[in-house]
Amino acid sequence: MIADILPDLANFQRQDYLTRIANGTQQPNPYRPRPSNGACLREQTYRGRHYPERIVKRHLQLILDDSSWHEELTFQWLAGSPYHLHSQQMGITIPGALTWVDPSQPPIRCSIPSCRELIHPQDIHGHIDGMITNTMELTRLDDYLIEHKAIGDFFFTKLITGKEWPTEYFIQIIQYLRGLQQWIPILNQAILLIKNKNNAHYLEFHVTYDTLSDTLKVNATVDSEGHHIQFPDETMPTFTGLFQTALTRFQTVATHIRDETLPDRPYEPEDFHCQHCSFQPECWGPDAFRVQRAPLTLTSEQTTLGQEYLNVLTELKNWGLKEKEIKQYFRLYLLNAGHEKAQSDTIEVALKRSTTPAPSVTIRPLTSWHQQFLPPLNS
Ligand code: SF4
Repeated sequence: MIADILPDLANFQRQDYLTRIANGTQQPNPYRPRPSNGACLREQTYRGRHYPERIVKRHLQLILDDSSWHEELTFQWLAGSPYHLHSQQMGITIPGALTWVDPSQPPIRCSIPSCRELIHPQDIHGHIDGMITNTMELTRLDDYLIEHKAIGDFFFTKLITGKEWPTEYFIQIIQYLRGLQQWIPILNQAILLIKNKNNAHYLEFHVTYDTLSDTLKVNATVDSEGHHIQFPDETMPTFTGLFQTALTRFQTVATHIRDETLPDRPYEPEDFHCQHCSFQPECWGPDAFRVQRAPLTLTSEQTTLGQEYLNVLTELKNWGLKEKEIKQYFRLYLLNAGHEKAQSDTIEVALKRSTTPAPSVTIRPLTSWHQQFLPPLNS
């Protein structure tokens, strides 16, 4: 059989970071604030507090690997276009951003062999996917940061239907733009290119960022079929304070590392993030819960939330009784009248054909047909 050995083959061939850690041949990368750090502050705190990183499910390793292949494939296609792709994996630094960190600590070196830049304690350092220059504009060469993501169908569908915005990716992008502005102060445009790994559908967000007001604006969206996302309110949004959000998160993690505490879990254990997380055994394992017998005191907001739940339950119960009462009325009405159906302009009440002696009743809105929209009858 092949499927069961593929994770081993892949891990063997690329000597994955986690595999090397599991083999004891590599020390984990120490935690530091990076633009690519995810939204789970607890995961970052585990890393910062040197909890052991583990391979949770072998096949999940392959998902991470095939995301970078998707990026490489997309960039290969772009290389044959008038867009000039360059600066791939280039290091960026936002100097002095982490103002709460003691600046007298010694700097560390970036672990990426092609970079090896000295990172000072207050700096944010990361690596971009690349930059593209639109060479079709002969009078003016437009430079964009390009960030590529390959994601599953579930999240992609939420994005393309306008139900969710890729805010986490935007937080990453604005940090890269701030880093790039150290060399190119006028650079303020980025393209977020997202590929659906299930069906190779692409979705692009074109954004601009105003550093002074910390505001990102979505200018345009388009998918690989040439469609634009139809957002419920039809307006392109702006996001204010994304850099501040990133800084607040880094500071929160730093505080938890210092105090040897852990932030709350933001996800349920079945969530995609937890399923991929290398600290899942620590976070959700049996040792993670030491249940105290003494009850906690709920805050007034929590009490209101719980009360709301109880009110909804009571309402649902009352509605259940009312529903039963109304249906019973109509069933008897039709049976006594000896009819199967009754209707008004807007609703229809009908007995449901059934083999049991007491047929049930359905109540539904009546569909009205507009004659002018019906096709002509064939003569
Ligand atoms: S298991 Fe889930 S909640 Fe826990 S650290 Fe990982 S991602 Fe966060």
